[in-house]
Amino acid sequence: MTGFATRQVHARSAGRDDAGRATGAPDPAASGHVVPRATPVYLTAGFEFEEWEQAAGHFGAGEGFAYTRTGNPTTAAVEQRIAALEGGADALFLASGQAAVTVALLGLVEAGQRVLAASSIYEGTRGLLLENLPRLGIEADFVDDAADPAAWERAIRPETRVLFLESIPNARNDLPDLAAVADVAHAHGLVLVVDNTLATPYLLRPIEHGADVVVHSASKFLAGHGSVLGGVVVDAGTFDARASGALYPHLVAPSRTGGPSVAERHGGRARLAYLRETVAPRFGPTPSPLNAFLVGQGIETLSLRVARQSASALEVARWLAFRPEVASVDYSGLDSSPSYALAKRYLPDGQGSVFTFTLHGGAPAARALVEAVQVFTHMTHIGDVRSLVLHPESTSHVLRTPAERAASGIHPGTLRLSVGIEDLPDLIGDLDRGLAAARTTRKETP
Ligand SMILES: *Cc1c(COP(=O)(O)O)cnc(C)c1O
Repeated sequence: MTGFATRQVHARSAGRDDAGRATGAPDPAASGHVVPRATPVYLTAGFEFEEWEQAAGHFGAGEGFAYTRTGNPTTAAVEQRIAALEGGADALFLASGQAAVTVALLGLVEAGQRVLAASSIYEGTRGLLLENLPRLGIEADFVDDAADPAAWERAIRPETRVLFLESIPNARNDLPDLAAVADVAHAHGLVLVVDNTLATPYLLRPIEHGADVVVHSASKFLAGHGSVLGGVVVDAGTFDARASGALYPHLVAPSRTGGPSVAERHGGRARLAYLRETVAPRFGPTPSPLNAFLVGQGIETLSLRVARQSASALEVARWLAFRPEVASVDYSGLDSSPSYALAKRYLPDGQGSVFTFTLHGGAPAARALVEAVQVFTHMTHIGDVRSLVLHPESTSHVLRTPAERAASGIHPGTLRLSVGIEDLPDLIGDLDRGLAAARTTRKETP
């Protein structure tokens, strides 16, 4: 008999006997003996090499699974599902949306180069561009009027390597003309990265409009249940070594040992392969396979949730727009929105469920509403099945100057809603209660 310590880690585990010795019998959980219908959670740090050659094959040609930081079957299954939904060639799942944005950018730019981004982007991404990447020698430029392709064209410099925007910007819902910005990027051989978190591939697939790379915070709509964080980078598989190799030399240079370049080995998928082989496993924002699994569970109901949330959001936005306490509603599905024409073109199936509205009564009115609502949850998150409310001026956008906030459509009386799947009358009734409370503060304020 083997010793206890040996047995406590091996006894009767996959393909082993009572002593923990390999029997050569197939692992029932990994073979055709059982056929799980849902993707199993391979919650394991690593994978046994069954043959001597397999080990070298993994470290040489990257074959198979060896260690979860470089790949895991549960995570891979979710990656392939998301790639398919976005119309991409391949995807890489990461520990958070922030990790996805960081890894995507670090695979494209190096010291001395620049990222060109819409100034309306998510505050975490903006902070990365303003505070973190500059310490690595990567600077950022910002386009204020992201809806104007000519503004992007004017802002491109010789060092620019990435154009970055969000398909539905938060907070203002001022939509970009994706295809036109993609044309600007491609005319310079550059990559357009689109954060598609608020739209989801159900409402909009940026790759169909020319985007090269799509990123998501999977913590939001893809998961939907609000119980885990995750992020994903999807690549269109369109890397063209001849047209763009000089701009992205790391993708076309021979490997460290003089072997073939990433582009020679992976062709159009070179960008994503570089992230998978060289960026993500080294910087290390590996997701738990359990979290990947839970995001995968969420994705199975994505269309049902997003269709309902978008339809409810439109009704809520229309209702708010006619209320005397409300100064403005920024929702691209309203025909009063400057983005209405772009919404018709890019978001015909629904305009999303995250938007802002501004109260006449300023911050006191906003506070009264937040404190009065009972169905909406006061928290910083979006895309949840639950409806959420947040006051951006004092929270998500507190690091911006008042002028920057105003340019982003954030005023003292502005509130952001993420509309969930609850029954519409309950949501309207709750906001009605909130607006009544907001009205009281107006009378008290001289
Ligand atoms: C939340 C969010 C992120 C960051 O994602 P995390 O999963 O929170 O790290 C990035 N972009 C957008 C648009 C987001 O809403």
